[in-house]
Amino acid sequence: MSHSKGKLYIISGPSGTGKGTICSRLLQDPRNEFSVSMTTRDPRPGEENGREYWFVTRDEFLENVEKGNFLEHAEVFDNYYGTPKDMVMKRLEKGRNVILDIDVQGGLQVRQAMPDAVLIFILPPSLTELRSRLEGRHTDSQEVIEKRLSKAVNEIRLIGEYDYYIVNDDIERAAAKALAIMAAEDCRVPAKVRPLIREYEQQQKGE
Ligand code: 5GP
Repeated sequence: MSHSKGKLYIISGPSGTGKGTICSRLLQDPRNEFSVSMTTRDPRPGEENGREYWFVTRDEFLENVEKGNFLEHAEVFDNYYGTPKDMVMKRLEKGRNVILDIDVQGGLQVRQAMPDAVLIFILPPSLTELRSRLEGRHTDSQEVIEKRLSKAVNEIRLIGEYDYYIVNDDIERAAAKALAIMAAEDCRVPAKVRPLIREYEQQQKGE
């Protein structure tokens, strides 16, 4: 319907929980778009500038902070990450849903700035399972894995601020749940009901 703006979805959860895979399933729906963050971390093999992230220097990042260009930004594992505000706003205005894969610090900042955002937390089935997934990726040293696990528990402590949680014990089931959440959110009666009512009143006049 013409009155509807897009919705902002925040997907958070410890690294290794399959957030990325769930996001890519959601992006198969053409109404959903991914917000590409800016980061100061180095690209990993296979990553492309502008696809996974915009890779920038610390100076470039801080310049953007200064100009107020971020919807939220945070320091994660010694690097800066931020969500470019303009892109998100423009897409929401056009009626597209925007998906943010960001950490909990960022999620909470977005909640403050945009109370209508939908916050979804992805949990691993257990910490042991998370450890073995991180070890299986062979991308991080043991020290980094320990850091990620301790950040995971710190993030889980803030789950009460989120709207939904999904335990990713099976990727198909987890992706289906994420799609179900989006479908339910599509049916939510909006906070501002006037435009919706007006649409039908105008139709009545036209009849
Ligand atoms: P990675 O470096 O493994 O791609 O991401 C590390 C963490 O940073 C993940 O938890 C990811 O969700 C988070 N992240 C990615 N982009 C952003 C962002 O723009 N803002 C915030 N706050 N976190 C982000």
